[in-house]
Amino acid sequence: MSLRVGLFGGTFDPVHNGHTEIAKAFLTSGLIDELWVLLTPYPPHKQKNIAASYDLRLKMLKEAFAGMKKLTISTIENELPKPSFSVQTIRYLKEINPNREFYYCMGEDSLSKFHTWKYYDQILKECDLMVARRPGVTHIGVEKKILQSTHFVDHDPLDISSSQIRECVSNGISIDDLVPENVKHIIEKESLYK
Ligand code: ATP
Repeated sequence: MSLRVGLFGGTFDPVHNGHTEIAKAFLTSGLIDELWVLLTPYPPHKQKNIAASYDLRLKMLKEAFAGMKKLTISTIENELPKPSFSVQTIRYLKEINPNREFYYCMGEDSLSKFHTWKYYDQILKECDLMVARRPGVTHIGVEKKILQSTHFVDHDPLDISSSQIRECVSNGISIDDLVPENVKHIIEKESLYK
């Protein structure tokens, strides 16, 4: 049987407890054997709003997921042409890993906007989606053809976002309960999001 891999892409600006929780949910879903976390340098939809450098986002990501078994941080999207269209990443990874089966993992907010992604129908031809619920959004109204390729995973949703953290830091509000301790240290040491 081929190894089943979940691809979990994001800007992670910064990585937060919502990300680590859904990563665990993807890994315990029984659908995948490994999770590859893809740090996106320039996502097509967020190019103007990235606050922390690629290297610092990577450093925080490594700290947040340190010691998590069956999880790998991947910088592949930094080596592929930009902006990072997911279909391009998926096709490339399939080509160099012919013995693996891939799932594309995301939060429910991303699913609700998935039909606006460039080449989204091509993504569905390449792999199924794995989706974790996210507070404040719903997949009601998502096209049937997308839902037919979607697997929802069970977890306790956390109402946390990277933009909320950037806002808290810039307003001097504590982020203690929102990010892993070692990520908070990097944010403080590097004076990020001030
Ligand atoms: P921002 O607030 O800057 O838009 P974000 O918190 O959504 O950022 P991203 O790096 O854009 O973080 O998200 C990467 C992936 O993680 C996306 O698929 C997103 O849907 C998912 N995600 C992020 N936070 C949560 C959460 N709290 N619950 C479920 N999914 C989440």
